[in-house]
Amino acid sequence: MEFQMDMFRLDGKIALVTGAVYGIGFEIAKSLAAAGATIVFNNLDQASVDQGLENYAKEGIKAHGYVCDVTDEEAVNAMVKQIETEVGVIDILVNNAGIIKRIPMLEMSANEFRQVVDVDLNAPFIVSKAVLPSMIKKGHGKIINICSMMSELGRETVAGYAAAKGGLKMLTKNICSEFGEANIQCNGIGPGYIATPQTAPLREKQADGSRHPFDQFIVSKTPAARWGEPHDLAGPTVFLASSASDFVNGHILYVDGGILAYI
Ligand code: NDP
Repeated sequence: MEFQMDMFRLDGKIALVTGAVYGIGFEIAKSLAAAGATIVFNNLDQASVDQGLENYAKEGIKAHGYVCDVTDEEAVNAMVKQIETEVGVIDILVNNAGIIKRIPMLEMSANEFRQVVDVDLNAPFIVSKAVLPSMIKKGHGKIINICSMMSELGRETVAGYAAAKGGLKMLTKNICSEFGEANIQCNGIGPGYIATPQTAPLREKQADGSRHPFDQFIVSKTPAARWGEPHDLAGPTVFLASSASDFVNGHILYVDGGILAYI
């Protein structure tokens, strides 16, 4: 098919963005909605889901919110069934829900390590597995895994996160290999340092009013010389969710202001 701008449109598509109440997931969901998709999201409790519904309503988006812990396989399977009945078959899955624990490795318990791997790696496996059968039946599907620069790098204090996000990169390639023939594309987005509540502690001013050393480090190492904003991820996500990327499969698109090229 010849190139047309409307290849980027997502009208009639249903997108599940996990954990998308604020931060990166919310911006991603807003961009998918702007391209025409119906938005479905989940979060851990009713208060968070209500907050999400309010956030979307403020943007003029009628989203569908569900309470579901993405690490709970039974709950995820039930949610996906409910979405299929109440909204329709999911065309686009964005595995966005994630946690980070910044603890030096020798102080990190095996349980803390497991908790991070559970949300950042096991959950994308569980949710992808739940949506894939209907995608295969429908004859198409897009899965976008929110990876990280830590899919490529290690750093002090993020052993669990780096292990999980590195694993998520490989899960992305595996889903591509296993389901490419079924016209499923699975790619990842690797955000650099993005200003969200998750990274707020790294931007806090020091007691003497000076900038956080990590904040200075990141800005000095990023060729773009700034933190990313959640909306920086919008265009890349719409591309990977749309038919414009139908022959792009098994890749991680780093949206990092160039830091991985320089660090
Ligand atoms: P946030 O913490 O702002 O958002 C993550 C959301 O996921 C939160 O709303 C959180 O709920 C929810 N969540 C956590 N665990 C679960 C669970 N078990 N089930 C359902 N929902 C859950 O993070 P960001 O927006 O910063 O990050 C989004 C994604 O981007 C993550 O995967 C993160 O690792 C990745 N990323 C972020 C970067 C950054 O610089 N910010 C850089 C690279 C990658 P609650 O509100 O209750 O905590």
